[in-house]
Amino acid sequence: MKILIVEDDFASRKFMMDYMSKHGECDGTVDGGEAIEAYTMALEDEEPYDLICLDIMMPAMDGYQVLKIIREMEKDKGITGKDRVKIIMMTALSEEKNVKKAFEMGCSVYCNKPIDVGRLEMAMEKLGVI
Ligand SMILES: [Mg+2]
Repeated sequence: MKILIVEDDFASRKFMMDYMSKHGECDGTVDGGEAIEAYTMALEDEEPYDLICLDIMMPAMDGYQVLKIIREMEKDKGITGKDRVKIIMMTALSEEKNVKKAFEMGCSVYCNKPIDVGRLEMAMEKLGVI
């Protein structure tokens, strides 16, 4: 599968890229703007991502904004239901209101940081990507 890792922190990004590479082809982006660019390019190339691992706290455009834009782009393009990209939000912000907000905005699964690989695997199984 094709995976996009969106994470501004170098160490976290490297960890995710190394770990997720066993599950598929990984691209890494350092901020929200780059993430939208990567997502758009993949759609134009007709090789969309299957999974996006999205950090919430990033400078300029945060993960919520990225999530919102991606879901809007899908809507515009008529991509619905299970054809929509699976999105795992990753954050240390685990308060209920943040989790609720992410789900309302269309995230598929929420993973707390520091990332526990066991939980990440469970999340991916739940999403049916592995
Ligand atoms: Mg961050």
